[in-house]
Amino acid sequence: MPFHTDEAALRWASQDYGDLVHHRPAAVLRPVDETEICAAMGENVVPRGAGHSTGGQAQAPGGVVVDMTVFRTVHEVRADRVIVDAGARWSDVLRATLPRGLTPPVLTDYLELTVGGTLSVGGLGGASQHHGAQTDNVLALEVVTPSGALVTCTPHHNSQVFDAVRAGRGRHGIITRATLKLVPAPETVTWHRLCYGSVEQLVADQRLLVTAGSFDYLEGQLKFRDGRRVAELEAVSFTTASLVGLNHDEAETRTTSYWDFVNRLTTGEPLIRAAGLWDAPHPWCNLLLPDHAVEDVLRHLEGEGPELYGDFGLVLAYPLRADRLTTPRLQLPEGERIFLVAALRYAARDSPATVKAMQEANNALIEQAGGTLYLEPL
Ligand SMILES: Cc1cc2nc3c(=O)[nH]c(=O)nc-3n(C[C@H](O)[C@H](O)[C@H](O)COP(=O)(O)OP(=O)(O)OC[C@H]3O[C@@H](n4cnc5c(N)ncnc54)[C@H](O)[C@@H]3O)c2cc1C
Repeated sequence: MPFHTDEAALRWASQDYGDLVHHRPAAVLRPVDETEICAAMGENVVPRGAGHSTGGQAQAPGGVVVDMTVFRTVHEVRADRVIVDAGARWSDVLRATLPRGLTPPVLTDYLELTVGGTLSVGGLGGASQHHGAQTDNVLALEVVTPSGALVTCTPHHNSQVFDAVRAGRGRHGIITRATLKLVPAPETVTWHRLCYGSVEQLVADQRLLVTAGSFDYLEGQLKFRDGRRVAELEAVSFTTASLVGLNHDEAETRTTSYWDFVNRLTTGEPLIRAAGLWDAPHPWCNLLLPDHAVEDVLRHLEGEGPELYGDFGLVLAYPLRADRLTTPRLQLPEGERIFLVAALRYAARDSPATVKAMQEANNALIEQAGGTLYLEPL
């Protein structure tokens, strides 16, 4: 079997986007086909997609890391579904579906994550207020179970495997192929960025909009601009939707292609790389909060200084509806409406004091916030 034990392979498998946890495996498996994964299955065999975890989730101390990026084919696009290898990135999926006018209903903000990687955590985005997580939009999966059997599972067939592996962090089976739901994609979108004087106003409008369900995509951010905090709401419509009744101070509206909208983070990546902050520590903290907690948490985060974020850091904050999130392993706080709040921090390389301060800030945040942790290792 194609096991790799050379230094480059072991170093690759002990690194991730977080750059905080570095566990070396005994070997890396780059399988030729699924049967090799079946044969390798056992204790401490961990799949790895694009390695964009921030806490060693795809690492296997002393074990075997399976490089899933060798399976990257988009097999078939139909009117309502796409069948794709788990190691394909979401950008690969869209390149195959958009020419047919189709898209997965929910996309993560960044498309260079693998299908298997996000299906093993949930996969949330601005469309989750309507459609739930990416794990809620899966029709079927092919999975290598922990005992080494290759099975097909759906909500109705081998449903225990289906429920175990979605948001299962690769610890309850390895997804090799996925059949994903598709919906019609708009050609263009209307993209509003609304600025607010306070987090209370931002959250009030987010509540209004998630209840109305009038926008196709809804997110929000706190970021630093010219040294001061700005609260911003992003509301995107695939047809038309009104801003009437909202309490923003300023609005910027533009029309753009659907692809440019969903692929928007690729323009930021080269800038972050050029600043040396892409391959550097990212002490990120992702929380799912009950509705009543969100203003307090955002006020707390507003009080944090820019040194806890770095030049590209920000706080993401957006509402979700619990009734749309049905994946059993996705741990949600109580209540019908919940908020994703994420502190996305960028530390310079070789700056352990900054990393420590950021990690302490995350611990303080978790202690204050309550709610559940999203994306953490199981
Ligand atoms: C820049 C950036 C933007 C992000 N944006 C979002 C966002 O908008 N929404 C969101 O929800 N998340 C977001 N994330 C987090 C991201 O979804 C998760 O970290 C995801 O797990 C990364 O996917 P990956 O392919 O890099 O997986 P990896 O980091 O390689 O693996 C992640 C986990 O998935 C498991 N895994 C990998 N492949 C498989 C497989 N085939 N079968 C079973 N398990 C597998 C691994 O064992 C590990 O536990 C973002 C992360 C980054 C770095």
